[in-house]
Amino acid sequence: MSRDLPTPAVALAIGAHPDDVEFQAGATLAKWAADGCVVHHLILTDGSKGTWNPDEDIPALVQARVVEQQAAAKALGATGQVIMLDNVDGELASGLAERERVSYWIRALQPDVVLGHDPWKRYRLHPDHRHAGWLTVDGIVAARDPFFFPDQGVGPHRPSTLLLFEADEPDHLEDIVGFEATKIAALLEHRSQFVTTMYITDENAGEELQAFRDRIFDQMRANGDPAGIDLAESFKLVTDV
Ligand SMILES: [Zn+2]
Repeated sequence: MSRDLPTPAVALAIGAHPDDVEFQAGATLAKWAADGCVVHHLILTDGSKGTWNPDEDIPALVQARVVEQQAAAKALGATGQVIMLDNVDGELASGLAERERVSYWIRALQPDVVLGHDPWKRYRLHPDHRHAGWLTVDGIVAARDPFFFPDQGVGPHRPSTLLLFEADEPDHLEDIVGFEATKIAALLEHRSQFVTTMYITDENAGEELQAFRDRIFDQMRANGDPAGIDLAESFKLVTDV
């Protein structure tokens, strides 16, 4: 189990939905941002399935999730761009057109470290997370080699490191002690997701909020436990990029 990469100059986190990046890597990104890293977000879908309310105003939800993602990035201390692609939530594909857009942003933003969903995670049901994983991996390959998508107007770029979150075989930990509260603050900017991903039906009722905080802390503790770290986020580290 390796731990604690040197702080990169530029990091790009690629998530299927608004809130995925904060759940999976929020504290790591907050730690790097505090140390001078430029942190960018690339969100691949519009988040339009992120409700259990059959009467939801979907265009309003999509707009709210853009504002929430920007606020969450700011809460992390991220100073980079927040790019939201308009693929329909739940219908993300990992075809050439989607790969072209991901590779474009990798080339344009020139990250040292890319973070994204592990496409090899077994038994995960959500199709967007699988496709987002493939787009991250395939987007890197396309971005680094000049004969993929040569007409984008941006030159090739090869990141040094890929960190896969939701990893099937995690082998890398980031010590995030001191950044746990920042992660939770960023997650709580995703207010439209209180019911569906945080199980908070009444934010004025403190028990649900506390249960959510406890759940995130339990995950961070469990991640760190094998290496004797109090709180950690875990990843599959790929350096052969
Ligand atoms: Zn998601």
